[in-house]
Amino acid sequence: MSGVPFCDVGVSMESLQPAIMSAMESVIRKRHFILGEACTCFERNFADYCGTSYAIGVGNGLDALYLALRSLNIGAGDEVIVPSNTYIATWMAVSRTGATPVPVEPDILTYNINPLLIEEKITSKTKAIIPVHLYGQCADMTKINAIAQAHKLFIVEDFAQAQGAKWVDQMAGSMGHVNGTSFYPSKNLGALGDGGMVTTNDSITAEKIRKLRNYGSAIKYVHDTEGINSRLDELQAAILDVKLPHLELWNHSRQAAAALYTEQLQGIGDLMLPYTHPDSTHVYHLYIIRTKKREALQKFLHKHSIYTLIHYPIPPHLQKVYAHLDIRKGACPVAEELAETCLSLPMFPGISVGQISEVCTRIHEFFTD
Ligand SMILES: *Cc1c(COP(=O)(O)O)cnc(C)c1O
Repeated sequence: MSGVPFCDVGVSMESLQPAIMSAMESVIRKRHFILGEACTCFERNFADYCGTSYAIGVGNGLDALYLALRSLNIGAGDEVIVPSNTYIATWMAVSRTGATPVPVEPDILTYNINPLLIEEKITSKTKAIIPVHLYGQCADMTKINAIAQAHKLFIVEDFAQAQGAKWVDQMAGSMGHVNGTSFYPSKNLGALGDGGMVTTNDSITAEKIRKLRNYGSAIKYVHDTEGINSRLDELQAAILDVKLPHLELWNHSRQAAAALYTEQLQGIGDLMLPYTHPDSTHVYHLYIIRTKKREALQKFLHKHSIYTLIHYPIPPHLQKVYAHLDIRKGACPVAEELAETCLSLPMFPGISVGQISEVCTRIHEFFTD
């Protein structure tokens, strides 16, 4: 027994290193580092992968979501429905436009936004819903689509944790009006630095995003709107283009690891294991377990050099940055309960059968002591 890291990107990288090096060399040789061929090429390939007409490379996942909302003219005075259980970026993309994030509680089984609770939060100010495909499985897009259509709302998918996941037969990132994802290094498709992508089937929206990511400019030194500077650089695009063809294989590796965890962790103490909605696939960006003894379990595993994380320890509505929204503790009890009980086990493509057994053996040990 030798310990297990939370995430080891090296395992999936090793065999690709020569290809990544030569892709980087080719960028360096061309001496063109921003908005060149590599970005255009990767945008095309990523759009094809997601099954969308357009993909626009940006600096990171937060900017992808922010620019998606800006392209829909969402701003001050508007409300956007967000999950109460998500990474802070989902909320910050909304508040950065000037709009107000309005939380909706998750389903306690899937941990994704509960569609049955959305309509009661819709007001005359509501402009959009952001379903987050959290931990790697899709939110209930059938029900969310129906609600959005009935109330004439936009859908912006946050698929930062679900690249390659499917709802029925549709890819994550292809179901909203305009969608955003992240290539943060530990994501299912990760860069060697920051990166993000906006996807859409609408040509006008795509053009707007292209301008907004580049100082509001389509023609050099001509600025129509107040954009930002957020472009996927050539080096990252070239690296991501080498990695993209392996994403399916890596997702399968995560799924195989998850199946082993689920098999070996049945019926232990009060452990709750992940549940996958029958209409979704799960690409296990994270493998989440829940227990009332979370703190003690995490300490015990740490003592045995097994590294786990908590996604997320403080829900957005209880963060200081959103104190002005005046959403009290107790207002989002499901998100608060998740924050107190969830634990993310080691998960990465190439995690070995031995490593998974080691984690499971220690968890058994903890609960039988
Ligand atoms: C990672 C992540 C983001 C933001 O991505 P960055 O590239 O780090 O800005 C947004 N939403 C979710 C759900 C994420 O997991």
